[in-house]
Amino acid sequence: MGKESQKQWKVMGVLREAAAFLENKGVENPRLNAERLMAQVLDISRMDLYLRFDQPLGMEERKAFKSLLRRRASGEPLQYIQGETEFMSLRIRVTPGVLIPRPETESLVEVVIDAFKSRNPLRVLEIGVGSGNISISLAKELEQAEITGIDVSEQAIAVARWNAEQNGVGGRIRWLRADIRCDGITDRVGKEYDGVISNPPYISQKEWPGLPDEIRLFEPKAALCDDADGYSFFKIISEKARILLRSGGWLFFEVGDGQSDKVREIMSSYGATGMAVYRDLNGIERVIQGSYGFSSVNRS
Ligand code: GLN
Repeated sequence: MGKESQKQWKVMGVLREAAAFLENKGVENPRLNAERLMAQVLDISRMDLYLRFDQPLGMEERKAFKSLLRRRASGEPLQYIQGETEFMSLRIRVTPGVLIPRPETESLVEVVIDAFKSRNPLRVLEIGVGSGNISISLAKELEQAEITGIDVSEQAIAVARWNAEQNGVGGRIRWLRADIRCDGITDRVGKEYDGVISNPPYISQKEWPGLPDEIRLFEPKAALCDDADGYSFFKIISEKARILLRSGGWLFFEVGDGQSDKVREIMSSYGATGMAVYRDLNGIERVIQGSYGFSSVNRS
């Protein structure tokens, strides 16, 4: 093998080619994606990659990198390939059985933290935990909180539990596999909660076929889509909130772009008052908060 071809397999050159390849396949941020995958193969941080630019890659490393690159080029989300993502500055493991946490969901978490930071004692329930990102961030930020997280998927509960352990809040969250649509939910999860929080599946059946392949072919449909118009979980949860919340407790929803008026209507039709709406970083109305029964700010 001549000097020429050896040179080609240095980290720097391989990255350049990989980025061009991903760009060709229509992957957004191709360079960043290539760097992340290379860092994964070399088991170093992306920053350390820069110190290794001149390093030649071994055969095994090249093979491993190629295979990751192919997965990414086929549309598989980077987070599933890497097995993790970042949410509220925490490392969160993701598998194809759970939704990849989205940056806009941090807005929901921030609203809840703000509402509850000086409330003690505090009991909150999250419905549809997925990877556990919301409940885990709340456990981290609200040290007084007693948290229950439920999901209909056994796999989600397992991932959430693992994430809670990894982030040092394993003992703070009670995880339960439960379906909010079933009767007798309070027998399973209890009641008198101060807060109920959910980022439910809010995409309609009609919108589903139009979603990007990267979402539609890889993320769990049940975490994104209801089997109707996208509002069914807002209705079910708004109704159940009446028996799950104590008087004066709050319900918090993440909603899809353009859904906020209708979700507010749904919430008030089930008795919620004092509605507040918050925008995400893109200026989209993303979080709705409503109170059930009489508000009592100073319970303690
Ligand atoms: N709670 C998780 C999140 O917000 C999962 C939500 C879901 O699966 N719909 O990312």
